[in-house]
Amino acid sequence: MVPKLVVIGSGWAGFYIAEKIDARKYEVTIVSPRRTSAYTPLLASAACGVFNFYLAEDSVRSKSRKQIRFHKANVTGIDFDSKRCRCAPAFDEDDEQLPGFDLDYDILVIASGCIPNTFGTPGEEAHAVFMR
Ligand SMILES: Cc1cc2nc3c(=O)[nH]c(=O)nc-3n(C[C@H](O)[C@H](O)[C@H](O)COP(=O)(O)OP(=O)(O)OC[C@H]3O[C@@H](n4cnc5c(N)ncnc54)[C@H](O)[C@@H]3O)c2cc1C
Repeated sequence: MVPKLVVIGSGWAGFYIAEKIDARKYEVTIVSPRRTSAYTPLLASAACGVFNFYLAEDSVRSKSRKQIRFHKANVTGIDFDSKRCRCAPAFDEDDEQLPGFDLDYDILVIASGCIPNTFGTPGEEAHAVFMR
């Protein structure tokens, strides 16, 4: 039986690993609220209308990677002892609370990116415009 590799995040790190790893040797599952990975350097041009936004994204479920499983969900907790991720489905258009689910893993890749740090500066979160 091949080991279960769960990748949290479909950004540059998570998507690259899932794309490059030998899918015959691992059962690869990506969990991410985003079904695409963005070519971020192209986003500014896409925003200016130079080309369609679709060209600045790569689908996680593209034809060449049919063997990779994908869950459109957020990982909300990890139990490192039992090697299990708790997930919550992520569908913007659905206001109903969908039931969460668990994913077991043998190997876990945490590639959930980062968020801006306010360093506790009062008022920053409410009034600042954050840039990555
Ligand atoms: C406009 C712009 C232009 C850039 N241009 C360049 C450039 O030219 N060259 C360069 O080297 N870098 C560039 N960068 C920086 C580069 O995009 C980042 O360094 C890179 O995306 C970081 O990759 P990552 O995989 O760590 O995180 P991300 O790409 O942010 O991916 C994180 C992923 O994790 C998912 N996620 C988050 N939380 C959870 C959770 N709880 N459960 C499941 N999934 C979760 C997110 O939805 C996302 O899919 C640019 C960034 C921006 C914004």
